[in-house]
Amino acid sequence: MGINDKILVFVDLPGGELDETGKGLLSYGARLAVTVGATWGVAVAVTPDSGQLAAFGSYGTPNVTCMTAGKTLLDTPALLGKNLAALAVEQAATMILLPHNDLGSTLAPVVAHALDAAIMTELVTVRQSADGVRLSRRALGVQIAETRVWDGKRPLVATIPPRALSQVIMPTVRPTSPTVAAWRSAVPLSGAAATIIGRIPPDPQTVDLTDAEVIFSAGKGCDPDTFEQLKELCKLLNVSFGVTRPVYDLGWTGFERMVGQTGRTVTPRLYVALGISGSMHHVGGIKDSRRIVAINSDSKAPIFPNVDEGFVGDLKEVLPRLLEQVRAGIGGGP
Ligand SMILES: Cc1cc2nc3c(=O)[nH]c(=O)nc-3n(C[C@H](O)[C@H](O)[C@H](O)COP(=O)(O)OP(=O)(O)OC[C@H]3O[C@@H](n4cnc5c(N)ncnc54)[C@H](O)[C@@H]3O)c2cc1C
Repeated sequence: MGINDKILVFVDLPGGELDETGKGLLSYGARLAVTVGATWGVAVAVTPDSGQLAAFGSYGTPNVTCMTAGKTLLDTPALLGKNLAALAVEQAATMILLPHNDLGSTLAPVVAHALDAAIMTELVTVRQSADGVRLSRRALGVQIAETRVWDGKRPLVATIPPRALSQVIMPTVRPTSPTVAAWRSAVPLSGAAATIIGRIPPDPQTVDLTDAEVIFSAGKGCDPDTFEQLKELCKLLNVSFGVTRPVYDLGWTGFERMVGQTGRTVTPRLYVALGISGSMHHVGGIKDSRRIVAINSDSKAPIFPNVDEGFVGDLKEVLPRLLEQVRAGIGGGP
């Protein structure tokens, strides 16, 4: 790839918000453009407001193309995919980046088919090599690690898993005021075989822990009282709940809540370990979390060298205070 190549990053703005995945994609796009020496730009199906445009600019986004008829397109991913492909052709984009979420993984095969492009799902790293661009992916709950070479002769459609995305703005990125252009649909807005009429987001209380975004986990340092307080905290914060093996062994939860070597391997953006010592059997299952925070009464607990942020504290004191603050924060407090 080189200066004549363009990376088109599709940011889906769910609910009109530039969420963490969107910011992560911008950061990824900016870094990738430098790595492969290409130019880049963003496509959206929702007209961004001034705040969102400023956020796009902070990631160095040079230009944003707004697909008109956004709502129709977002409700009919097949049409959105065809339009994205048409836009990619018009902009001579050689690489199309999508989030590996529900929408992105639906769009990817449609765009790839329309462009007769190569496709790589759950892409993690990209680097230039003598024989082409090397693309590595970790798929199927990270059971598969695979590297492929892309020769660049045909376009590439790639999805990036949210767990591989970081919202960090690289120090080398220069903020921009992105140019904004409206793009009228090139593909007839009819003839979709299926239209989305409803979507239920996953419930953090019941979602499989391998898909959970935020997990608070209880270890043996919890007694029955703090365990119940932690469960309530998870409900109030709408986050997922996990446990260590000794807690599972006590019969306090089902096996599906256990995290670690025998339990679930998790990759949330935030993992909070409460009263967990940090045995290798547990840490092995959480180490790919984007951010790990721990609270433990023992300052020498082995969990601490494995976390981003650690607090020495007694759960019997910390949890009631946390609960009180959260209840007050959401208006349910005394
Ligand atoms: C083959 C094998 C597979 C295993 N698989 C798993 C697995 O999948 N998942 C798993 O979790 N374990 C697994 N284990 C068990 C693992 O080795 C550890 O025994 C377990 O992870 C320890 O759990 P824990 O941290 O909750 O308990 P402990 O090691 O007992 O730690 C409790 C921690 O709580 C702290 N604490 C105590 N009171 C308080 C308080 N009031 N406030 C704050 N902190 C407090 C203590 O300082 C301590 O660090 C496996 C073991 C084997 C042999």
